[in-house]
Amino acid sequence: MEILRDVGAIYDWVQHAKALGTRVALIPTMGALHSGHLSLIALAKQRAEKVVVSIFVNPTQFGPSEDFDRYPRSEEEDRAKLKECGVDAVYLPTVDIMYPQGFTTTVKVSKITEGLCGKSRPGHFDGVATVVSKLLLQSSADVAVFGEKDYQQLLVIKRVVDDLNIPVEIVPAPIEREESGLAMSSRNRYLNDHERIVAAKLFAGLRTASILIQQKPQSVNDILLETGEHWLGSGFDAIDYLELRDAETLDHVHILERPARLLAAVQLGKTRLIDNIAVEPKV
Ligand code: AMP
Repeated sequence: MEILRDVGAIYDWVQHAKALGTRVALIPTMGALHSGHLSLIALAKQRAEKVVVSIFVNPTQFGPSEDFDRYPRSEEEDRAKLKECGVDAVYLPTVDIMYPQGFTTTVKVSKITEGLCGKSRPGHFDGVATVVSKLLLQSSADVAVFGEKDYQQLLVIKRVVDDLNIPVEIVPAPIEREESGLAMSSRNRYLNDHERIVAAKLFAGLRTASILIQQKPQSVNDILLETGEHWLGSGFDAIDYLELRDAETLDHVHILERPARLLAAVQLGKTRLIDNIAVEPKV
């Protein structure tokens, strides 16, 4: 597995592969790799002959009171996992490589960034859109895979790629879950045993709500209120948001008529958890 440490190295590596007629997939990550990330690699392998995974904990997408400093970092373990999965190259840029002195450009997406995580994490999607644009341009990969776990992020990235004509195909990957239903996340490492049990109720609540909404498409607001109350009674400390949104535009949905997505963010102790589920109208 090739170790790439700067912009020239990843650019040259991808260009060399392309010159041989090989399709290249990029998977951007922040490391602390788990089976969710590995499922993206499996999907990438179906779409391209060569796979490069980037690991970069991007400071610009963390707010001042967020967990940038304590975000889990496990480079050696990550590299071993990637090698084991047969990844062809790993890109490990430093903050100085990504944001050298004089860096002042921000990629800012409006509208779909305004609610949900964009509301509770001001500036978060500016950081995401900027770093992902850089990674896509630095690599010039043919394909890039992103998880539906971060559903709003996925739509933001699709928007950037369309709006800036970045020549890459964005491939969404389904959410990988633990047996309990808990969506895999690097931040699950923060949870203690008791919190893990509570955390599983997030997806259980989303699943129940999605079924109820399908059965009673006019009663979205009542179902969401009940779900939120149920979560608070089950041990979650706060609900950041629980909203039904259009699956493509993220417009608010009050009556289910088109494919939608039920998205939630909750606080459990010191950990913020996000999850989402597709909600399709009955045919
Ligand atoms: P992160 O390292 O958390 O920035 O995530 C890197 C990529 O992995 C993003 O595209 C995430 O959406 C995706 N991802 C994280 N967790 C999961 C999961 N449980 N299932 C599928 N994709 C995931």
